[in-house]
Amino acid sequence: MSIDIIGAGIGGLTTAIALEQKGIKTRIFEQAESIKPVGAGIILANNAMQVFDKLGLRPIIEANGNVMSSMNITKSNLKPLSKIDFSYFEKKHQTKSIAIHRGTLQQLLIKQLKSTEIKLNHKLTALEKTANGYTLNFENGKQIKSTTLIGADGLNSVVRENILPNNNIRNAKQICWRGVTEYQLPLNFQNELNEAWGKSERFGFVQIAENKVYWYALKAFKQNKDEFSVGQLDRYFYTYHSLIKNIIKATNKAYINTAEISDLKPTDIWYKGNACLIGDAAHAATPNMGQGACQAIEDAYVLSECLAKYNTEKAFSVFQKLRLPKAHQVVKTSWRVGKIAHLKNPLLIGFRNQVLKLTPSSINRKQNEQIFQLAEV
Ligand SMILES: Cc1cc2nc3c(=O)[nH]c(=O)nc-3n(C[C@H](O)[C@H](O)[C@H](O)COP(=O)(O)OP(=O)(O)OC[C@H]3O[C@@H](n4cnc5c(N)ncnc54)[C@H](O)[C@@H]3O)c2cc1C
Repeated sequence: MSIDIIGAGIGGLTTAIALEQKGIKTRIFEQAESIKPVGAGIILANNAMQVFDKLGLRPIIEANGNVMSSMNITKSNLKPLSKIDFSYFEKKHQTKSIAIHRGTLQQLLIKQLKSTEIKLNHKLTALEKTANGYTLNFENGKQIKSTTLIGADGLNSVVRENILPNNNIRNAKQICWRGVTEYQLPLNFQNELNEAWGKSERFGFVQIAENKVYWYALKAFKQNKDEFSVGQLDRYFYTYHSLIKNIIKATNKAYINTAEISDLKPTDIWYKGNACLIGDAAHAATPNMGQGACQAIEDAYVLSECLAKYNTEKAFSVFQKLRLPKAHQVVKTSWRVGKIAHLKNPLLIGFRNQVLKLTPSSINRKQNEQIFQLAEV
């Protein structure tokens, strides 16, 4: 059996590693001319790290990232509103959540590939159904035959457009800036993610390595993201805690990544014939729960297990059955969290903050309990 993967993102790379380990041959086709690291960090929550543990990659990821043992939502002055302590899950699953530079993670994953070739400069433009599978048409003029296809080509998936058109990409009307800067947080902040919520904007930061902090900032907009500019970041956060202002000041603005936030309205079908979607191509979420890549990593694990056990059709059907409920829960909850985080009305903000403060930690734990539990294949 040979499987073709479109997209060398975190989902595509992890799937190739997992399939290789099952003895299944894979090829990856990636549109980019070279794999450039995004200047940002990423949080690999406990569920993603359980998968990397199964793939034998936990030690190397831990060695290159930083342990994140809690997540706090705070006011703009960093006074706590809610705390999720991950130590319970660290004991339960014997794995820790890790914050790491995206570029470092990408390179670690690429280095794990033994037989898989990543064919760069291969932008898929269309699929044609054939008797045995598909003809893949690429922008560079090449046509390649494929029997089994995995679409790991992200939110604007061409595989999805071809096999399951008419999906709905939703614009969350939020702009997101991400940066990595040379900075050492005070000791008490070094193993936690803090996200400060203000009025229609928020700021999150976490240590990802010695003297390296990853931060992200979001702001809700009404009409057009061009209402805001990276040059004004200091101004948007001038009422925030001095630590946040210092992190922004310490960042070279030329390397700040700007993105508009969107997701994919949940869809009930992820595969057709011999082609199946994974990761953002199947269930892109807004980043409010920091679970998009973690869900793609879970897909990689579950799909590879299914493909090793069943014929292609059954594998895709069992994969979808096992993964869809949780992936959709993440999409829906993330969308809701985004709305709550960006309230503007001071009365509603006050009410929200009270609810956050009064929510028992057992409820926060229960929510994460489901998210961190891997499916059994
Ligand atoms: C601001 C922000 C912060 C985030 N933070 C986190 C976090 O902390 N933790 C977390 O788990 N998730 C986070 N996410 C979500 C996470 O980034 C995505 O869910 C994850 O990258 C999805 O991986 P993927 O491999 O499915 O898709 P992608 O990362 O989008 O990769 C798709 C790949 O396919 C390639 N491609 C696309 N089209 C084609 C084509 N036609 N032909 C060939 N190749 C193609 C692309 O070049 C790319 O390499 C965040 C997202 C954002 C926007």
